[in-house]
Amino acid sequence: MYITVHAAAGAAIGQFVDEPWIAFLLGFVSHFVLDAIPHGDEGIVKWKLFKTTRRRIMAAAILDFASLMAVSVLWIVYSDLPQLTGIFYGIAGAILPDALWGFHELTGAPFLNWYRNLHASTHKIFKIRLNLKQGFMLQIPVLVILTLIILIF
Ligand SMILES: [Zn+2]
Repeated sequence: MYITVHAAAGAAIGQFVDEPWIAFLLGFVSHFVLDAIPHGDEGIVKWKLFKTTRRRIMAAAILDFASLMAVSVLWIVYSDLPQLTGIFYGIAGAILPDALWGFHELTGAPFLNWYRNLHASTHKIFKIRLNLKQGFMLQIPVLVILTLIILIF
């Protein structure tokens, strides 16, 4: 899933957790649970607006980062101060798996080959494949629900 959705899950979980390392760990685990749900990110490689896969991935990453910045301001402004530690650690744990994956993609670091395979395998637990549009139709409501959970509690 997009980093924005993973971060929302980390924040939604982290706000209920006082112990930072537990918020981090739960955020980390939530990443793999969400990645197991078919979510259509693979469809980015067919995005017609851009000519190369590299440009498509760059554009998606920039849009993802921009939406994360926009919604995380909401999460922070509407959360109570004591919740922010758990929220930040939850977000860090939830986005670390994709940061590790990206690091491996960029560097090809052999010591992370096992991790790359583990991360990729979570995407293949269910055989259903969604296209980009269907992926958005799933991820946007998930993001809205998680954001409501962050704002309400
Ligand atoms: Zn991932």
